[in-house]
Amino acid sequence: MSTVIEALQRALPADAVVVDPARMQGYRFDRANLPGTGTPLAVVKPSTTAEVVAVVRAAAEHRTPIVVRGAGTSLAGGSSAQDGAITLSTERMRGIAVDTATRTAVVQPGLLNAEVKAAVREHGLWYPPDPSSYEICSIGGNIATNAGGLCCVKYGVTVDYVLGLEVVLADGTVARLGGPRVKDVAGLPLTKLFVGSEGVLGIVTEVTLRLVPLPERANVAVAFFPTITDATDAVIGVTSRLRPSMVELMDRLTINAVEDETHMGLDREAEALLLVGSDAHGEASAAELAEIERVFVECHATEHFLAARRMALPALERRGSVLIEDVGVPVPRLGELIRGIGGIGQRHGIVVGTVAHAGDGNTHPNVIYDPQQAGAAERAMVVFGEIMDLAIALGGTITGEHGVGTMKNAWLRAQLGDGAYDLGRRIKAALDPDGLLNPGVGL
Ligand SMILES: Cc1cc2nc3c(=O)[nH]c(=O)nc-3n(C[C@H](O)[C@H](O)[C@H](O)COP(=O)(O)OP(=O)(O)OC[C@H]3O[C@@H](n4cnc5c(N)ncnc54)[C@H](O)[C@@H]3O)c2cc1C
Repeated sequence: MSTVIEALQRALPADAVVVDPARMQGYRFDRANLPGTGTPLAVVKPSTTAEVVAVVRAAAEHRTPIVVRGAGTSLAGGSSAQDGAITLSTERMRGIAVDTATRTAVVQPGLLNAEVKAAVREHGLWYPPDPSSYEICSIGGNIATNAGGLCCVKYGVTVDYVLGLEVVLADGTVARLGGPRVKDVAGLPLTKLFVGSEGVLGIVTEVTLRLVPLPERANVAVAFFPTITDATDAVIGVTSRLRPSMVELMDRLTINAVEDETHMGLDREAEALLLVGSDAHGEASAAELAEIERVFVECHATEHFLAARRMALPALERRGSVLIEDVGVPVPRLGELIRGIGGIGQRHGIVVGTVAHAGDGNTHPNVIYDPQQAGAAERAMVVFGEIMDLAIALGGTITGEHGVGTMKNAWLRAQLGDGAYDLGRRIKAALDPDGLLNPGVGL
């Protein structure tokens, strides 16, 4: 009886099947860096949908699980290798075709988000979703996690730009969902079911993206606030009246970490820093910025400053190992969440610096710990869990954009409730009865 590796070697070109442990090392961890990460049985690198089908059929025949891997930047353990599983990397699936008439792009999953943006820009078009990792994450991973980012407060998240998908199901069936049509309500809305399904229902092999004209360059208003409450009042004041292109928040700990690195003269006493962007056209932008400034002053903002939000994570990483949380709440509860997160950290003697896509109510508490200190990693995990409990208690979500992965499954039922949780499992069982696609992920 042939092994699954022999079956894969028969199905794919020789260089598309890797079994050398040294060469597979780079496919083990994702950016969650989980201690229990396994080693793939084999890494396969299909170039076409037909090759993906061949891999899935070989795996199904041998009852071998598959972990799907885009660029491996998951912060939730979604693309971490598992012992005994094949890792299917989409890195060779990099085609793109732009159609200016329908303002769409048909893209293979392995292309990076930044490469999609660059390719469509040549046609004067824009693909808005902008995870902070856009230069290093794949469009397939973005679809699977329904990735968000800084401009989502105005432009929406990945699902808002997905018109169609091609997916390979667990039995090797190829399904084409939707297409380059802005309006199309034929059949169940299956395209949306697959976006954000973390690779547990099928493997995305092609995506049809909706594009929009390039926006104006954004102007950014920046201000410090004496309290978190003032800052969150300003967020509500701005988002309830205007459509800013970005609303980002940094808490005091993060401001201080960035100031330690950059010496920009940030206000170390402020409880929060807000960055609010406006990409409105021409004079409308000046009017929008004036209104933003008026709200800032009304909410006790102190001096204005230009700062770099993207410095936040590297600055915090200098302080130790970082577990990046991703909880969200309805915007009016943002202040309670951020203050509660600070309290959880203090109770456990763990430093937590929070940045937030504040206009979406989506926070990234960065749980910082010294891995050499006895018990610190365990306490950090307790803090990680209590932050999710708090988000659920505030009517929020355990993950706004990074996904459940393998790290948050234990909290999913508590957030969704029995009805929605069990429905998700029934859909999974119907599409992948043997549980071969991304076992342990997302459900
Ligand atoms: C520094 C940093 C900043 C980040 N900032 C953001 C942010 O602002 N917003 C945000 O949303 N995320 C952010 N992330 C998280 C991460 O980049 C996103 O989740 C991204 O969408 C993952 O893309 P990837 O190609 O790396 O996917 P991977 O990590 O390879 O996979 C992620 C999940 O998608 C599945 N998957 C991948 N490709 C496919 C496919 N073709 N078909 C089916 N399933 C598939 C995998 O199995 C896995 O479950 C950040 C990560 C880092 C390291």
